Amino acid sequence: MSHDPSNAAERRARLDETGSQSPDMHREAAVGGGCGCATGGSQATGCRTGLGPATNSALEKIESELRAFELEERKRLGLETDPAHWNDENPQTFTAEERGKTRLLFGGLTAAHDAILEAGLRSLGYNAQALPYADVEALQTGKEFGNRGQCNPTYFTVGNLVKHLVKLRDVEGISADDIVRDNAFVTFGACGPCRFGTYVTEYRKALRDSGFPGFRVMALSQEGPQDDIGGTATALDTNLKFYIVIVKALMAGDIINLLGYRSRPYEIEAGATDAAMQESIEAVRAAFTEGRSILRAMNKVRRAFAKVKVNRLQPKPKVAIIGEFWAMTTEGDGNYRLQRFLEEEGAECDIQIITVWALYIVWSLSYDIRESTMLRRRKGEIDRFEGLAPRKGIFFAWLGGRAVKLVFGTFAKLAGLRGYKLPNMREIADLAHEYYPNQLRGGEGHMEVGKVIQTAKKKKDHMIISVKPFGCMPSSGVSDGVQSLVSARFPEVEFLPIETTGDSAVNAYSRVQMALFRARAKAHAEFEAALKDKGLTAEEAARRAEGRRSLSEALHYPAHSVTGTAANAVYELG
Ligand code: SF4
Repeated sequence: MSHDPSNAAERRARLDETGSQSPDMHREAAVGGGCGCATGGSQATGCRTGLGPATNSALEKIESELRAFELEERKRLGLETDPAHWNDENPQTFTAEERGKTRLLFGGLTAAHDAILEAGLRSLGYNAQALPYADVEALQTGKEFGNRGQCNPTYFTVGNLVKHLVKLRDVEGISADDIVRDNAFVTFGACGPCRFGTYVTEYRKALRDSGFPGFRVMALSQEGPQDDIGGTATALDTNLKFYIVIVKALMAGDIINLLGYRSRPYEIEAGATDAAMQESIEAVRAAFTEGRSILRAMNKVRRAFAKVKVNRLQPKPKVAIIGEFWAMTTEGDGNYRLQRFLEEEGAECDIQIITVWALYIVWSLSYDIRESTMLRRRKGEIDRFEGLAPRKGIFFAWLGGRAVKLVFGTFAKLAGLRGYKLPNMREIADLAHEYYPNQLRGGEGHMEVGKVIQTAKKKKDHMIISVKPFGCMPSSGVSDGVQSLVSARFPEVEFLPIETTGDSAVNAYSRVQMALFRARAKAHAEFEAALKDKGLTAEEAARRAEGRRSLSEALHYPAHSVTGTAANAVYELG
């Protein structure tokens, strides 16, 4: 594999000639060689390919070549050869004795996920506590203590932690020393390539500046238990059991949310869905707390939702919420409480779930391994990527994907979530590739583009809202750039990117309302067409629905014939 300076110069010359990156450069970027693409950044720190020791030693070799080159260049330019680099103090002391006593704070997902994760972590012996939703006050606190030029989710999540600690200190009168001693924060992290790679440093900076120096922030790798970022404290036992509990909790949260968003817009008795969701969350929490089977808890979820009665014959626009991971997931001010706003405006939300993100990580692992086997090598150099290691890596990635689908499928079946299909990651990658290279990472990568095309082709939604946090690097390239072309080529879907600055809710709401007007008209036209097709009037359809018990049950979701749920219900009746 060639990484010497002369080859770098050669590649730069090639780039100058062609004005674009060659496939070889993309391949190098994919395995952490420093990406020169739109989302920028390096994957050198903490980046894993899943190839095991062979890959690690190959990466070490690259690192040592780069170090030698840097040294040579420093000498040539007359610079210091051993400069004193700035180091971010990273307190991580977390002993086994502290495990049950130290309050482990976390948060940032949906209400269901956070509540279930809290119980899951407690079942492992941690004194876990989910933080409340990040609100506008959290954003302001984040801006006050954070670096300039961060993306909105950084300000929201960092500010939310600082806001909580400030409240403990200034309202409850607990000293800063006690707060630092008795609390720690745990979050997910990654090596980037966008600002996600610097969240942990941002937390520490804001905590120092707000009067909590030494506060422990532990980052778990989103790719799994191989190695955690920044020397995560050892008493945080990030073994397989730990990750299994997290995966179970996240999937249970996903399924409860999916059931809730399918049911709430059509519920007959206002509040019945929220009550079923709360009952479901409590059932799963109790299963974790009492060490009982999560599978039985999923049965209880089904029973809770079986009580909710719905009227599916209400034509409503179906709106997919996609975009940046945190901004599309949160149910708080981070996206102007978009899900509830849409429902109040008479729409049905098609939400994205965290399990899909897990599938994307597994897909990218497998993709990167395949790409790494095609790296060019120096003449005579031994090919470290050939042989068993890549095949083993690809096999384990495939196995991981199967395991995710199996667990999700089992949970979904027991909970009564029918007719929901996890997306095929390869299909999404193939659909997106023409518009957004699959090698580009950061944010949702190519997924956002693939989802829009898939939605158009499969008639999944009447409208798509892409939530784009202010200051987000990947979103700027995707929502503002690539999606303009995609939505022009697939005009059948109403595509609306909204920027979430945190302080312009009215602006965002009015844009959503205008787009919803058109989507609503489509849903109504589709419903009328379905009635005509089946030779029914709305009254006759309603009468027939009364005789069809399943159509009044929240657990029954009409099979997909067209986009709208009400029109699908008519086709089912017909
Ligand atoms: S995807 Fe965008 S919003 Fe999310 S961490 Fe990266 S830069 Fe920030």
